[in-house]
Amino acid sequence: MQTLKNSINTTLTEADVLKQLKHLQEINIKLKSQLKYTQELFETVVDTTSALMWMIDAKENYIFLNQAWLSFTGNTLDEALAENWRDRIHPQDLEKCDRAYQDAFKKCQGFQIEYRLKRFDHTYRTILNTAVRRYDERGIFTGLLCSCLDITKRKKIEQKVIRQAQTDRILAKITQNIHSSLELDVFLQIAAEQVIKYLSVDQISINKVVAGQGLSLLFETGKNNSYSSCKISNTKHKYNRILVDYSEKLARGEIINSEDVSLTQLTTNDFELINISYPLLSIPIIVSHQLWGLIFVEQHLPPRCWKTDEIKLLERVVAQLEIAIKQSELYQELEELSIIDGLTKIANRRKFDSYLATEWRRLTREQNTLSLVLCDADYFKLYNDTYGHQAGDRCLQQIAEAISKAIKRPADLVARYGGEEFAIVLPNTDAEGAKYLAQQIRWQIESLKIPHINSPDDLYVTLSFGVSSCIPQKHLNCSTLVAAADRGLYKAKELGRNQIAYCSLDT
Ligand code: GH3
Ligand code: MG
Ligand code: MG
Repeated sequence: MQTLKNSINTTLTEADVLKQLKHLQEINIKLKSQLKYTQELFETVVDTTSALMWMIDAKENYIFLNQAWLSFTGNTLDEALAENWRDRIHPQDLEKCDRAYQDAFKKCQGFQIEYRLKRFDHTYRTILNTAVRRYDERGIFTGLLCSCLDITKRKKIEQKVIRQAQTDRILAKITQNIHSSLELDVFLQIAAEQVIKYLSVDQISINKVVAGQGLSLLFETGKNNSYSSCKISNTKHKYNRILVDYSEKLARGEIINSEDVSLTQLTTNDFELINISYPLLSIPIIVSHQLWGLIFVEQHLPPRCWKTDEIKLLERVVAQLEIAIKQSELYQELEELSIIDGLTKIANRRKFDSYLATEWRRLTREQNTLSLVLCDADYFKLYNDTYGHQAGDRCLQQIAEAISKAIKRPADLVARYGGEEFAIVLPNTDAEGAKYLAQQIRWQIESLKIPHINSPDDLYVTLSFGVSSCIPQKHLNCSTLVAAADRGLYKAKELGRNQIAYCSLDT
C-alpha cells in the first residue's frame, strides 16, 4: 500500500515537473521570439535612422556601426570596423574628444560632446555625440553606445547669429563714438581708430575729393604710424588713379575691392609706379548725393581676403560717417550764419564780442598788447537821404571789403560793430601799429572815391577812426578798451571827421 502510495506521489511529482518544464519551454520560446522581435526592431531603427550610431567596447574597438555611419564615412563595414575612431576627428577637436572618452572609460559613464567629424568627401561636419554606457548581464562595463546628430546647419545659423550680434555691438560702439563729436577731424580720427581696433587691418586712410585736384589725405592711421591733417594738402595722392579710373562706380556708392579688379599698377605721378599686390578696399563716402571722399583700407600681412561680414560692417560704419559729415557741415553752416553779418559777410557783433573777450584773456596771460580800432562812416544818414537806403547798403559792403583788404594778419578780426560802424581787433599789435593800420584803411576808403555830394566836408565817403591800445590787466575788463576807442572816435568826429584819434584807457 505504502509502495503504491509512493509510486502515485512520484508520478504526480513527475507530471508536475513535466508540466512546469513545458511551461518553462513555452516561456523560453516566447522570450526568444520577443528577443528576436526586439533585435529586429533595434536593427531596423538603427539602420533607418539618420543618426550615426556605433558601439565601442571597453578596449575602444568598434563592435557595431550603423548604416548611417557607413554612408557618412563612405566605408564598407569591414573598413569601418578596422578604423581608429580618432582618425575621423578634426585635429583641433581631438584633444577634447580624447579627454571625454578617457573620462568616460575611467569613470564608466556617458557624455555629450560637440566636435567636427570627417565625412567621405573629406569635409568636416559638426556633430553632437551622445554616448551612453553599456554593461553586460553581470553588471560589468562593456563600452559605449554612441549616437550622433549632424548639427552643422544649426551650428552655422548659430554662428551667424552670434557674428551678427557681435557686428551689431561693434557698430553700436563705433556709431556712438563717431557721433560723440561734431568736429570733422575728431570723428574721422575716431572712426579710423575704431576700424583698426575691431577689424584686423594694417592701414586706413580717409581722404577728401577736392574738385579739380583729386584726393587729399585728411587722416591716416595704421599699426605703426598715424597722420592727421584736416586741411586740404596739395601733394598728389598715391591712390588718385583709383578715383580717376573708377569715378563712376564710386559715385554710385560702389566699393572697389582690389581682389575683384586688377589694380596691379597705379601711376602715382609721371615717374613713379606702385604695385598693389595687397588687398585694398576703396570705399566711397557719399554726402548729399555727391562723392565727398574715399576711405582706403589696406592689409599687407598676412595676406587675406576681406570677409563679406567685414565689408558689410565697413559699409555701415561709412554710412554713419556720412551722417556725421552731413551733420558737421550743417552745424558749421549754422555756426557761420550765427557769427557772420548778413549784409557785409564779415564777422558780426556777436563774434566781435566773443573774440575780443578771448583775446583779452589770452593777452592778459601773455602780457602783450591788444589794440582796437573803431570806425564810423561820416554823415551816413545824409548819404542814405541822398542816394537811398539800398545804395547805403552797397556802400557799407564796399567799406567792409576795403577794411578787410587792409587787414593782413590771420589773428586780426574785422567785424561790423553796428549800423555804419566797424571794429578791428588787433592782437599783439601796439598803438603805433594800430594807428598805422587805421591810416591804411582811411586811404583805402578814400581811394574808393564813393561819391557823397551832400557831405559837408568832402565829395566822397570818408571814415572817422578811434584807436585804443593796452596790455590787458586782470582787474580790468575788455569793455574799457572799447570805451577808450569809442572816446577816440568821438574825438575824431569832433576834430572834423575823416581822421584818426587815439585814446588811452586812462584818458
Ligand atoms: P556821423 O558822421 O556823426 O557819424 O553822422 P552819421 O549820419 O553817420 O551818424 P548817425 O548816427 O546820425 O546816422 C547813422 C546812419 O547810418 C543812420 C542809418 O540810417 C545809417 N545806417 C545804419 N545802418 C545801416 C544799414 O545797414 N544800411 C544803410 N543803408 N544805412 C544804415
Ligand atoms: Mg554811427
Ligand atoms: Mg556815422
